[in-house]
Formats: sequence, C-alpha cells, structure tokens
Amino acid sequence: MLPLDKISIEDIKPIKMIVFDVDGVLVPRGTKIKQRGNTTTLETKIIHKKQIEQIKELNKRGFLINISSGRGLYMLQEMFREVLSFVSLTYECGSATWYRGKIYQHINSFEYMREMLPKLKKATIKNRNVKGFEPKEFIITIHCKKPDKKIEKVVKEDKNLVTVWNGEAYDILIKKDQTKALGLRRAMKIFELKKENVMAIGDNYNDLELLQVSGMPISADKSRVQGKFYVPLKGKLLPADKLMQKVLSIVG
Ligand SMILES: [Mg+2]
Repeated sequence: MLPLDKISIEDIKPIKMIVFDVDGVLVPRGTKIKQRGNTTTLETKIIHKKQIEQIKELNKRGFLINISSGRGLYMLQEMFREVLSFVSLTYECGSATWYRGKIYQHINSFEYMREMLPKLKKATIKNRNVKGFEPKEFIITIHCKKPDKKIEKVVKEDKNLVTVWNGEAYDILIKKDQTKALGLRRAMKIFELKKENVMAIGDNYNDLELLQVSGMPISADKSRVQGKFYVPLKGKLLPADKLMQKVLSIVG
C-alpha cells in the first residue's frame, strides 16, 4: 500500500466512477441513536459544504459518483440532498441502488430476516449495552456501546446470516451475498463499467468486499482495510476530502 501522495495521472486515467463509503470517509465516524420503547431518535449527519462542492467539481470533470453505505436510503437522501441529481446511492450494504428516482433492488432478504428481527428484539429487551435498532429495510442494524456476545450468539444460530461489527453497531447480513460488493457489481452494470474504471474508498470491515471489486481501492484506515493506496488518518481533514482534493489537483 502506498500513501495517497503517490497516486499519479496514470492511476486516474481509467477511472470513470468513484465510490465513497460514508461514515469515516465523508463524515466523521459515530452515529447518535437513542431508543426508548417505540421511540427511536437518530441524528442526521450533515455533509460539509466543502465536500458537496468537491463532489460537484468531480461531476463536472466527468466522474460518476456512487455513495455506498450501510445506512438506509431515507438518511442518504437527506445527507446528499444538494447533489442528488448526479450521485447514485447504494444503500444498506449493497442491497439496492437509487439513481435519479429509480430503485434497483439487488437482493431480497425478506425470508432471511423475517424471523431474526423479532428474535433479536426479544433477546435485547433489557440489554443496557444496546442503544437501539437503526431503521432499515433489507438488513438489521443494532447499535451497541461495545461488542455483544449475546447478539453474536443469536445470529450464529442461523447459518445463513452473519454479524459485521463496525465499532459502533452490528450489521446483520446474508452471509457472503449481502455486501457492498454486490451493490458495486450491480452499479457497474447499470453504468456499463469495468473493474478498472472504478475507484473505491472505504474505512471499515464492511468495505472489504467493496474494495476488492474495484480496480483502484483506497483504504481510509489501513489498520482495518487494504487498498492500493491509503489515506493517512492523521490531521483534521476527512479521508474523502483528501482524496477528492488529490484527484481534482491531478486532473486539473
Ligand atoms: Mg465507513
């Protein structure tokens, strides 16, 4: 892995689409969620004006922008409201892609999640480590203060499902199939792109498969994921800020 400084015009030339993970890349990590009985409070993070401008600039230079997140569509639409006409949103870990008002569903998880959700709700009722269930359509997301053996055990009993811990929450996904890689492969079909046309940046374990599918993977946290290049974590700037700055400076 090379530091981002070493990326060259030759590396950028084949790139037609840049895929951004959201948390830890375009916005700081950490989701504020509170659940009391049937009331869930969830903070919407705002994309900084500077990043909005950078996304607009990249779009002007002809790059397609794909946002790939574990978050739900409603939340991503809110976060990217200002640039919605030129980004595609791949949400809930590759489960579906929204593009200009059209939704492409990539997986049907209904039968897989149908019994797991009530099981997990029941198993976590008095668990003080659990902060809340984030509203999702295709996956289950449980925010916890720290990793939780009980949740892992309940999910493990179902051989089709897997837990992915991202430092603040568990995503419960269909094993192997429900990943950001699925979402990216399908998005590449929609936009008729090849692997070498795609640059992807991610910082967490749920980005592993995503980065493997792209021809130019960029790690925003080299302690968690590997890329051809990595963005050093030090400093105040977000990884996506550094990457967009770099790409824009190269393409001019
Ligand atoms: Mg992330």
